[in-house]
Amino acid sequence: VKADTNGVLINSATPEKTDEEEKEDKAAQPSLNKLIRSNLVDTTNQVEILQRDPDSLLYFVKSFEELRLIPQLLQGVCAMGFNQPSKIQESALPMMLAEPPQKLIAQSQSGTGKTAAFFLAMLSLVEPVDTFLQCLCLSPTYKLALQTRKVIEQNGKFYPELKLAYGVRGNNLERGHKIGEQIVIGTPGTMVDWCSKLKFIKPKKIKVFVLDEADVMIATQGHQDQSIRIQRMLPRNCQMLLFSATFEDSVWKFAQKVVPDPNIIKLKREEETLDTIKQYYVLCTNRDEKFQALCNLYGAITIAQAMIFCHGKEKVLVTTNVCARGIDVEQLSVVINFDLPVDKDGNPDNETYLHRIGRTGHFGKRGLAVNMVDSMNILNRIQEHFNKKIERLDTDTDDLDEIE
Ligand code: ADP
Repeated sequence: VKADTNGVLINSATPEKTDEEEKEDKAAQPSLNKLIRSNLVDTTNQVEILQRDPDSLLYFVKSFEELRLIPQLLQGVCAMGFNQPSKIQESALPMMLAEPPQKLIAQSQSGTGKTAAFFLAMLSLVEPVDTFLQCLCLSPTYKLALQTRKVIEQNGKFYPELKLAYGVRGNNLERGHKIGEQIVIGTPGTMVDWCSKLKFIKPKKIKVFVLDEADVMIATQGHQDQSIRIQRMLPRNCQMLLFSATFEDSVWKFAQKVVPDPNIIKLKREEETLDTIKQYYVLCTNRDEKFQALCNLYGAITIAQAMIFCHGKEKVLVTTNVCARGIDVEQLSVVINFDLPVDKDGNPDNETYLHRIGRTGHFGKRGLAVNMVDSMNILNRIQEHFNKKIERLDTDTDDLDEIE
């Protein structure tokens, strides 16, 4: 992402990216998002909950006190500046802390408090007097494992009896070593070795198993199988929890293998954002015209902050989708698709379109999205997909006063 002096965020992707590069991007995404974001993404959207046992009562908590967290953890929550549970935490935490333990698959965009939800559950469920591994958290990347550990340490600083270990590449333990820490944050490959070949861990004693960033996990070769291998070594009554920012079919299939008979929590986001965004298109015959239309737009309307998405070839620009999915820029008022998002076969990439324009119109504020198109084909398919009309805008005329 490059910011020019006018506060314009220009964000671009090379269309020639290989599958490998896509996967690397995807794996780097959560870490980047977490580095960039230090605040909770506020959302008013609905949570959708599917309970395995429809007769059991559904709880929502409006405060951390209601969860009856042990004082050390409540102190940690306060010190982190968490005043009240986030949308996903309201329903996920009571479910995770219920008796008997509930299995859970939870999906909501990054930054909505999933990590905090599961680390609070993990810290609540471990027995500090037992010095063996009770909670295993699988992270898809080394970096993410480090970050997760860091936040758990911050939150658990008033609970010094709890000990954490890293199960990542490079943490070479001596033969015969037994993990005495109650919590391990690790990556799948290393964890398979620790549980089977090296026997540092007795998987049958694990009470809570968390799989974080499932969508990123399956994008990395081998991680899916390794995760399932670990899952199979766990005792039947182990509490299994899986979190993901997105939920395409492949993630869902994987999730059900890792968490059989789950409760499911999903945070809706799509439909709402589109309603508050006014979408336009500008017909241009070539890139020069697109550029001219962009200049006209800038000349005519007051743009507080904008993001411009295009198929840029310049290597200095960072990828599109990191921004499209991860960063929430509250002030963003205009999103410009200099090029519409398409997949490698040239079909419209509806999901990315949604993520891009979803950057604007947050918190019920009105947003504006302008698409520069040289043919109607892709645009029509996008309109059809979302069942939303995208109006034509003529940047050479007075139309622009109207959108202001
Ligand atoms: P996710 O795992 O969904 O990406 P995180 O749990 O990392 O989200 O939370 C995103 C940010 O919001 C973090 O900086 C975290 O400290 C903060 N956060 C999480 N829960 C709360 C809360 N209840 N109140 C305030 N901030 C929170």
